[in-house]
Amino acid sequence: MRDSYDYVIVGAGVAAARAIEGIRQHDQTGTIGVFGTEATPPIYRPDLSKTLWLESDHKLEQSYLLPDNLGAEFFFSTEVKAIDPVKHRVTVENQEVGYRKLILATGSEPLTLSTSLGERILTYREPADFQKLHELAQPGAHIIVIGGGYIGAELASALNQNETSVTMVMPEKYVQHRLFPADLSHRITKEFIDRGVHIVNGRFAKAESDGKRVTVTLEDQTTIDGHGLVLGVGVKPRTKLAEDAGLTVDNGIVVDEYLQTSAADVYAVGDVASYPDALLGRRRVEHIDNAETMGKTVGATATGHATKYTHTPFFWSDLFDDGYEAVGLLDSRLHTFIDWNDDQTSAVIYYLEEGQVKGVLLWNTWDSVPAATEVIRQTHDAPVENLGELVGRITVG
Ligand code: NAD
Repeated sequence: MRDSYDYVIVGAGVAAARAIEGIRQHDQTGTIGVFGTEATPPIYRPDLSKTLWLESDHKLEQSYLLPDNLGAEFFFSTEVKAIDPVKHRVTVENQEVGYRKLILATGSEPLTLSTSLGERILTYREPADFQKLHELAQPGAHIIVIGGGYIGAELASALNQNETSVTMVMPEKYVQHRLFPADLSHRITKEFIDRGVHIVNGRFAKAESDGKRVTVTLEDQTTIDGHGLVLGVGVKPRTKLAEDAGLTVDNGIVVDEYLQTSAADVYAVGDVASYPDALLGRRRVEHIDNAETMGKTVGATATGHATKYTHTPFFWSDLFDDGYEAVGLLDSRLHTFIDWNDDQTSAVIYYLEEGQVKGVLLWNTWDSVPAATEVIRQTHDAPVENLGELVGRITVG
């Protein structure tokens, strides 16, 4: 480890990987030190809940980013204990390391609901989680998935397609009910049930394992027995370093349009950053397109090529034979308007607030993210008065 680096990156996830690439586009020789509590190099996380289960010849090694690490020095399983924006130094374990520019890409950590994790009781974010679950999910095994959000839905779909029996536990009535209007989440839930996923409406209370099995107890005292348990109950941004250093933190590390925090020469990117979205206002986004694009952008800015982050990120998912891409705010509490195709297999769903489209869900509808972003932009300036105006605005299917 050097005494100082031109660029110090805290965190070794996707945003960090893209920041290195962004730096190297403009500065081929500056020193880069990357410190992450992760045990492994940056990995393309969507593969952990999708491709690795659905494409049998896809191996974990293929999902690591940066096969050539571009001259960055990585320190894995290494904790940065403190940052000092005034002295331009970070404390790495017991050593002080200087920086010219500091990029915080600390990501988020899964909630555990105070449960002790183990070989059969997992959260799901890192390669080791995939490896453990893969071991447990032998054909005929029974896996219990807590949560009906992104992780719950993607893993239940993936495990079911691997001949593993799955029970999904969630407080909501339908799968992804917080995201999708009831009509669509009802259809998705029916598809899950028809495929053999067992759905239990309830709240997780505790889990115990005897080393061979897991027993889950729900708040209503129902118990469920299985070979393994995955908690997909949300994440929280890792903001402690920033808070301790006195940076402005408010549901994430607050950054400006250059992704700079309240301290000079300190930037934050990815899940942890609360940024001013050009179309939607201040928000924090926990999806990979945001992490990748922010990473690239901050890399340029850190080298002196100041670049505003003007991107409104998109995200996507696959659930059995269905899939979607989406832009903006998908919150089923907003007013929603669904434009179906004739046989109701594809749709464009608009999420509105006072005539402004805040989010667009492209259900089995492809290559339309730019068009969806454009509708958000247009209705920001000129709200729709009549929802019928939205029909056909984006081609469905
Ligand atoms: P989530 O917020 O999507 O879903 C959390 C789920 O847990 C909800 O259904 C909630 O009701 C449920 N829950 C909370 N407490 C519970 C309890 N006591 N008992 C039962 N259920 C309970 O979070 P996630 O699915 O854990 O996803 C984690 C992160 O991973 C998110 O940041 C997400 O954006 C990201 N992710 C994204 C994608 C994608 O973009 N396709 C895929 C996977 C993960």
